[in-house]
Amino acid sequence: YNVPKAVNEPVRAYAPGSKERQQVLDTFKELYNTTVDVPMYIGNQEIRTGKTKTINPPFDHKKVVGTYHEGEQQHIEQAIAAALEARKKWANLSWEHRAAIFLKAAELLAGPYRAKINAATMIAQAKTIHQAEIDSACEFIDFLRFNVEFMTQIYAEQPISSEGIWNRLEYRPLEGFVYAITPFNFTAISGNLPAAPALMGNVVVWKPSASQVYSAQVIMEVFQKAGLPAGVINMVHGDPVMISDTLIGSPDFAGVHFTGSTSIFNGIWGKIGQNINKYKTYPRIVGETGGKDFVVAHPSSIPAEVATALSRGAFEYQGQKCSAASRAYIPQSIWPEVKELLVKDIESFKMGSPEDTANFVSAVIHEGSFDKLAKYIDAAKAATDAEIVAGGGYDKSVGWFIEPTVIVTTNPNYETLSTELFGPVLTIYVYEDAKWAETLKLVDGTSAYALTGAIFSQDRYAVEEATKALENAAGNFYINDKPTGAVVGQQPFGGARASGTNDKAGSVLNLYRWVSPRTIKETF
Ligand code: GLU
Repeated sequence: YNVPKAVNEPVRAYAPGSKERQQVLDTFKELYNTTVDVPMYIGNQEIRTGKTKTINPPFDHKKVVGTYHEGEQQHIEQAIAAALEARKKWANLSWEHRAAIFLKAAELLAGPYRAKINAATMIAQAKTIHQAEIDSACEFIDFLRFNVEFMTQIYAEQPISSEGIWNRLEYRPLEGFVYAITPFNFTAISGNLPAAPALMGNVVVWKPSASQVYSAQVIMEVFQKAGLPAGVINMVHGDPVMISDTLIGSPDFAGVHFTGSTSIFNGIWGKIGQNINKYKTYPRIVGETGGKDFVVAHPSSIPAEVATALSRGAFEYQGQKCSAASRAYIPQSIWPEVKELLVKDIESFKMGSPEDTANFVSAVIHEGSFDKLAKYIDAAKAATDAEIVAGGGYDKSVGWFIEPTVIVTTNPNYETLSTELFGPVLTIYVYEDAKWAETLKLVDGTSAYALTGAIFSQDRYAVEEATKALENAAGNFYINDKPTGAVVGQQPFGGARASGTNDKAGSVLNLYRWVSPRTIKETF
């Protein structure tokens, strides 16, 4: 298969005074001072129902930068019909033409749409310019390019034939439509969840998070510009329960591609179970859910490295990554030094609007998240077995601002060592150096999740011990690095246990889930 070799999109540095930085900031200003009106995309129509909700920047929540239109059950049914209609041609289109559309989308994002998708992500999802760039530009482009290469690897996988017998595998798309449910925290994931099944010949009904509709609309614009035929990816908004009931209740439901919370994913499994006798085919269920990601330092680790991993891993994008370091286990011997460096680093962070590129953090996504985080911070302030050593402040008068906060506890079962908070709150347990092996058991047993984790050590035996002891505790395991920032094609991403089905986004494994192969034997 002759396809362009996929290479990772270089990350732009946006250095002060650079043309690239100015271009993104100009686009930010332009979008901030106008309003967008985001429709639903169903078949070849943009649907505006008039039942609207506003889009408000999390860091300036009284400001309105746009509206989006919500649908009723009839619209969701129309989206299913449009998808199935599109399937008649799309599922039979040769792979080169499907690939060409998504490769063109990657080029549009790398060039003419880069500033717009970054600015939309900065405004509505409160990402800094650097966090937007690694997500909505680079990771999204990488998904699109690498998926084409992964697809050809799948197609190349063929059975043995012999004289007079020709065996072959035909990688058909699923019979029906795929339902994509996407999160607010990564524009790249939001784009990839509908795009990956569509590349493999499937049709999709996509519901983006209500907090991410701005950049989702840019994604639809890019896909259309790249030549994606009407109805292949349909984007809907509205009551999530109604949407899921309608889509999962359809006999043509063939799979779900999900990133979001564990509890919602569990609900989806339940709904699929209730409807199982209706379906033409067993649906594919692919989901990446929550995390309570750890950093564990061995006494041999270098304090400065541990401190940097914690401040970046826990607080970039306000800790709102499934992969964020949210619990850490630090030995007593190095704790004073780690603490001093970590607190100093956090005190240097500026917080505010992403328009000011000096800000390292911005607001959390919405009021619900703010209130939850404030509640846990208050509980830590009142607790006798925990203390706050950095941050602890919050203010929602202008935006949903929570200070990067570090809780230190003497209780290995302290609640925030196991409960996912999805925000800028890191909990640290300081252990006795001699209790290394017990600490590894603690790390493995404290949380139900198993998404990412990191071990820091200069001692190779300790590295090996941790790698073995934590083999089921993280789908992405890092040695002497922070547990965030997986790159497509380099660190396939996903976890098991309560963190999902571990179908590894950004790898061939994910794309295998979107085909229903037919084996053909022909004799001569
Ligand atoms: N892939 C991202 C990372 O490695 C995290 C994705 C997520 O938050 O769902 O940081």
